[in-house]
Amino acid sequence: MAIRAEYLGMGLTVDDPDVENLEYFRHCSEHDFHLQACVQCGRLRYPPTTACPWCATLESTWKKVEGKGAVHSYSEVHHAIQPAFRGKTPYLILLVDLDTQKGEPTSDEALRVIGNLCTPDGQLAPPELVRQVGIGTRVRMVFSDVAPGLSLPQWTIDETAAQPASVWRYPQE
Ligand SMILES: [Zn+2]
Repeated sequence: MAIRAEYLGMGLTVDDPDVENLEYFRHCSEHDFHLQACVQCGRLRYPPTTACPWCATLESTWKKVEGKGAVHSYSEVHHAIQPAFRGKTPYLILLVDLDTQKGEPTSDEALRVIGNLCTPDGQLAPPELVRQVGIGTRVRMVFSDVAPGLSLPQWTIDETAAQPASVWRYPQE
């Protein structure tokens, strides 16, 4: 079943999400973050997929995962291609290492979940918040409600976490 909605004033259509994505977004719409856990090796995976990327087992169960982590990398957008985002620049696209399963199965790996930097109520963050965030910033998950049944997992600065003394940002920003 297609989802049609409006996001930032633009029309949005999600055509026929598959089984894994339907379940993933059903949890997100309840502001709950769940990932698939492989029944064979037990590892979580992101994004939702049909088979385990490590052992190819098809069966999985959904497991609630804590939405906390640290910024692994980011992109700061100053020139929005999509007109709906022009009034929102600069905005951040964050790639976040979840604390859960970090360093598994090798020390270089993590569950890396993408999302925008937002305010705690799920709106795109203003420039003064954008400037505070870089690689290493501790963040927590929030949700942006787009339409009934569709909420996007996003990130905000974790006010309760101990933040690093400094975070890495591109020098020209
Ligand atoms: Zn597996």
